[in-house]
Amino acid sequence: MFKDNLLENKTIVVTGGGSGLGKSMARRFGELGANLVISGRRKEVLEEAAHEFSEKNINVLTCPGDVRKIEDVETMSKKALEKFGTVDALLNNAAGNFISPTEMLSQNAFKAVIDIVLMGTWNCTSVLGKEMIKNKKGNILSIVTTYAWTGSPFVVPSAAAKAGVLAMTRSLAVEWGKYNIRFNAIAPGPFPTKGAWSRLMPPGFDDFEDDMKNKIPMKRFGERHELENLASYLISDGSAYINGEVVTIDGGEWIAGAGEFSDLTKLPESMWKAMADRRKKK
Ligand code: NAP
Repeated sequence: MFKDNLLENKTIVVTGGGSGLGKSMARRFGELGANLVISGRRKEVLEEAAHEFSEKNINVLTCPGDVRKIEDVETMSKKALEKFGTVDALLNNAAGNFISPTEMLSQNAFKAVIDIVLMGTWNCTSVLGKEMIKNKKGNILSIVTTYAWTGSPFVVPSAAAKAGVLAMTRSLAVEWGKYNIRFNAIAPGPFPTKGAWSRLMPPGFDDFEDDMKNKIPMKRFGERHELENLASYLISDGSAYINGEVVTIDGGEWIAGAGEFSDLTKLPESMWKAMADRRKKK
């Protein structure tokens, strides 16, 4: 789909790049020629990912750390600049989330998600953004979700934090456009990962996964390569004039939830035919 050297000479920081979707997108950027800086709290997970990437001749630096801690983010930026000289793009991917009735959430639980998703995105954006301002060039892509604009019960801290990330994306797209830094977001629907599935699938509700799939017009979950391709395009210079945009990749899931007549997809063909015949007779 892309030329092999699409991202050559670019250094890309991927938060949460050692596992899940972050790892998949990072690997694809590396295969397309980028230098990678991957961060996350678990050193061994990052090292395992880096080992896999190195076997594919990808240049990779691991930066263990917590996006909630500004000093960790500053260390990551310093190490990235020491190794690669510049940072061209940031993928804000690290996140935390779990399902709970909102009235059962402790102050700490609510704050933890806001701190990782919203504050973590801000910490990385502000620290690496200042370097990009100096270079008069940069690209910041953030992973949100479709409920950043619809809201969603049972994941209120995540919905509030992702809505904040989307507002930051659009605001800075305007404010920092003058520095030649662009901001975009990707809103994925469900893409199975160990992390998301272990925290977001209610145990014992075996039908939940099938119900979820059935609500998606395309009747399937997203496949990693589909997200990797979209992220690679948005992180590349091929999309240089796209700024302040959010691209949804969910097989039509959210819009189906919003459409008043979406449930009519369940009607059998015979019923549609009977209705058409009735209209013809009038
Ligand atoms: P995941 O498997 O849970 O991975 C999350 C990553 O973030 C891990 O690598 C984790 O590494 C890192 N992370 C978590 N807290 C961190 C912290 N405080 N500091 C630094 N790194 C931290 O999640 P995923 O399913 O791949 O999702 C990736 C992104 O896509 C997230 O932004 C998520 O909200 C979004 N998304 C996913 C789906 C889906 O269906 N999977 C749908 C919509 C949106 P450590 O634990 O080692 O820190």
